Amino acid sequence: MKLDAKSIATRKQELLKRKEELLQQLSVDAVKVTEDDYDAKFPDFGDKDDENAAEVAVFEKNLSMEKTLEVSLFNVNKALKKIEAGNYGTCEKCSAPINPKRLEAFPSATTCMTCKRKVL
Ligand SMILES: [Zn+2]
Repeated sequence: MKLDAKSIATRKQELLKRKEELLQQLSVDAVKVTEDDYDAKFPDFGDKDDENAAEVAVFEKNLSMEKTLEVSLFNVNKALKKIEAGNYGTCEKCSAPINPKRLEAFPSATTCMTCKRKVL
């Protein structure tokens, strides 16, 4: 089953929307370093011991959040590049077509289910 232009256009809209959401969330917890790289924010609450402890706790939360968001953003950007290159919906590992249902659920998927299972 091949993806038609209409589905690709729809996926692209979803990906662009997702990208905006991710950038929005990242701007809360992280500082932009480069296009694909963000660093978690280190908050400044004060110099007292409990304030320092609170800073570390927030930083750790930001760090794990930032990592998750960064990976999602990376995948969304990769999928958008594939749309531009005209090979969206093709597995990047085995070149088999990715099930359109899978792309509907995960527009940023760049591998087919078979390859995905191999990785896990
Ligand atoms: Zn594959």
